[in-house]
Amino acid sequence: MKQSFLFTKTQKNIAAEEKSINAQLLIKGAYIDKLMAGVYTLLPLGMRVINKIENIIREEMNAIGGQEIVMPALQPKENWETTGRWSSMDDLYKITDSQGHEMALGPTHEEIVVPLAKKFISSYKDLPVYIYQFQTKFRMELRSKSGILRGREFLMKDFYSFHADEKDLEEYYEKAKQAYFNIFKRCGLGEKTHLTFASGGSFSKYSHEFQTITLAGEDIIYVCEKCGLAINREIKDETEICPDCGAKDFKEEKAIEVGNIFKLLTKYSGPFNLKYTDKEGVEKPVIMGTYGIGLGRLMGTVIEVHHDDKGIIWPMSVAPFQLHLVTLGEAPELAKQAEIVYTSLTKDGFEVLFDDRKESAGVKLNDSDLLGLPIRLVISAKTQEKDSVEVKLRNSDKVELVKINKLEDYINKLIKQ
Ligand code: ATP
Ligand code: MG
Repeated sequence: MKQSFLFTKTQKNIAAEEKSINAQLLIKGAYIDKLMAGVYTLLPLGMRVINKIENIIREEMNAIGGQEIVMPALQPKENWETTGRWSSMDDLYKITDSQGHEMALGPTHEEIVVPLAKKFISSYKDLPVYIYQFQTKFRMELRSKSGILRGREFLMKDFYSFHADEKDLEEYYEKAKQAYFNIFKRCGLGEKTHLTFASGGSFSKYSHEFQTITLAGEDIIYVCEKCGLAINREIKDETEICPDCGAKDFKEEKAIEVGNIFKLLTKYSGPFNLKYTDKEGVEKPVIMGTYGIGLGRLMGTVIEVHHDDKGIIWPMSVAPFQLHLVTLGEAPELAKQAEIVYTSLTKDGFEVLFDDRKESAGVKLNDSDLLGLPIRLVISAKTQEKDSVEVKLRNSDKVELVKINKLEDYINKLIKQ
């Protein structure tokens, strides 16, 4: 894509109340725009990042048998009364239409997915079932100060599993855990993300968080120095030793919850009376698990972990484009050569953002650092003389001059690294 064609531009002045690094960089880079506290527009560059993240998650969810659907955000009050959450859920947005009908804007979808599953599950032959979606959630978050990490309207991947018994859920839960590790690793958060025992007491074995260590984190976790498993504050109050390996030394860290997984058992199948008949014809409750990831929060977390004082440093897997082709200087032959390089790279399947704007070198290079694409290619009078392109990785200071006829091989090697 040509940068001159983008309808957005990098932003110099952003609201003073925007304190978090992720929101500052995303707004400055015109990845997102803020409409009000906790509510953001995804602009073209941000949309490309979210699409990459979504595809990584989709691949991993499909690999464990997930079937994708989309459920509505507008939800009947009755479903929420069935589980008692119409009155117990503090962050539920409730709306009333002109005829007095009350509805909820969905903050999660157990209340919708369970009655849905009930239409299709009646026998042991119908189980297990794995359903997921990418869908917009609404939550009345009171502390929307962490930029895109805590939205009031935000995109979530929510996944629900339905099983005949707890053993089947247990086995599936381990698969889901592994799929989650794969997702965070593929998004560039592998080293910083810890499986975390989530809640206190006997409930801990039913739920885990995936926590990514960064100073922007709202949570405190204790990471076992021996095995890397983490526990959250409430557990830490109850246990002196690592529940996994028994070691005693923990490091206190700030972290962001990027995802979590729960064994719901019959918490929601119970109220909706979701049952099946087993081989012997006996009626039994369906056992459930639920698995969530916030996509915007994941994008924000990637930035909190991967940035410097100049801007974002995208991991290749989630970068909006792999390459930033930048021309410095306005001589017509420069523009012509850059156009040829751009066309041939794009034709060969590389994702290129081409800064063809008539701006100073300073503006272009600053913008390039801010946007943070993994590989920068500069074409200038100096490089043209040598029939070359200057290649620089965003996460390194090293600059290489690469001959144009060797450029694709060179880039391919960088991308594979
Ligand atoms: P938190 O404790 O941070 O409020 P939660 O326990 O409410 O999270 P869940 O209801 O389990 O979160 O939602 C599943 C996932 O959705 C979370 O792990 C997180 O990645 C994401 N998420 C939750 N709330 C938000 C939000 N307000 N904005 C963006 N993402 C969110
Ligand atoms: Mg919450």
